Amino acid sequence: MTGSYYTYSQKLMGTTVSLQLYVENPAAVTAVFNTIEALEARLTVNRDHSEVMSINHAAGKHPVTVSKLVFDLIQQAKAASLLPYSRFNLAIGPIVKLWKIGFNGQSIPPADEITHRLSLTSPHLIELDQTNHSVYLAKAGMEIDLGAIAKGYIADITKLVLAQYNIHQAIINCGGNVLTIGSSPLTSSQEWHIGLKRPFAAANSLLGILHVQNKSVVTSGIYERYFIFNEQLYHHIIDPFTGYPLDNELQSVTIISDNSLTGDIYSTILFGFGVRHGLNELEKHKNMGAIFVTKDQKIFIKSNQHFQFELLADDYELCQSLIPA
Ligand code: ADP
Ligand code: MG
Repeated sequence: MTGSYYTYSQKLMGTTVSLQLYVENPAAVTAVFNTIEALEARLTVNRDHSEVMSINHAAGKHPVTVSKLVFDLIQQAKAASLLPYSRFNLAIGPIVKLWKIGFNGQSIPPADEITHRLSLTSPHLIELDQTNHSVYLAKAGMEIDLGAIAKGYIADITKLVLAQYNIHQAIINCGGNVLTIGSSPLTSSQEWHIGLKRPFAAANSLLGILHVQNKSVVTSGIYERYFIFNEQLYHHIIDPFTGYPLDNELQSVTIISDNSLTGDIYSTILFGFGVRHGLNELEKHKNMGAIFVTKDQKIFIKSNQHFQFELLADDYELCQSLIPA
C-alpha cells in the first residue's frame, strides 16, 4: 500500500455519504458535499418541497417547469420505465408512500388501497415537454419517485465536481452506491477493492470483494430497508405490476458500470428480471457486468470483463454464468 488517504463523511440522502481522497483539498471536499446537499434538495420526495415535489403537488392540475438537470433525469427515468418487461417505474410514488417501508408507520396496506393506487402509477401518464422542460402528471394523486436512481445520478455529478479541482482519483460511497474514480493509489494492481455485503449481516461481513478500476458498483437488494410481519419479509423495491415488494429468487443484484446512473437503473431492472432473464439481458449490454445473489445462497456472475470477484463466504456457491460468455 502506498500513499496517504483522507476520508470524510456526512449524513445526506438518508444515508452516510463518504468520500475518500488521496490529496488534501478542503475546498474540493466542501464543493462535493455542498453539491450533494443541493441536488438532494431538488430531487427528494421525502420533504414537502423540492423540484420533484412541485411536480407531484400539481398532479392532475397543471404542468410544472423544472430545471434542465431535473428534467433530464426524469426523462431518463421514464425511458427506463418503458423498457420491455421493466419493473423500474418512476411513477411508483403512490405505492411507496402507502407502504412507508424503511420509514415511520411502515405496514401492510389494505389490498383495495393498493389496487386503487396502482391505477396512478402508469409511466405513460407522465407527460414531458422537451421545449420548456415541463412535466405533467395527468392524474391527481400521481407521484414521481426518483429514490432508486437519485444517488447514482448525484454520484456521477460529484465526479465532475472533483475533476474541476483536478482530482482524478477518489472513491465516493453513497450508502451502497460506490463510485470509484480513476485507479487506486492504495493497491499494487491499481484496482479498487470493493466489499460486497453479506445480506442481513453486519456491515463488515462480506460475501466477497470486487476488483475494479474507474467503475461504479451499485447494489439493489431486499436487505437494506425492510420489515418483517408474520415471518414474511417486506422490502422496499416494489413490483409495479402487483403493488407488493418484488418477490423472486433474488436477494440482490450488483451492477458494475462506467456511470452510476446506469448502474442504479439497471440494478433495479435486472433485480426485477431475475437471474436467467438478467444474465441474458447482459449479453446485450457488454458495457456492464453484474453479480446476482440468490436466496438459496448462489452467486451468478457476468463480468463482461469489467471486474473480478473474490469469494469470501464459503457457504455461498459461485456459479459461472448459465449461458456461455
Ligand atoms: P437504495 O435506496 O437502497 O439504494 P434502490 O436503489 O434499490 O435502493 O431504490 C429503492 C427505492 O426506489 C425505494 O425506496 C423507492 O423510493 C424506489 N422504488 C421502489 N420500487 C421501485 C420501482 N419498482 N421502480 C423505481 N423505483 C422504486
Ligand atoms: Mg438504486
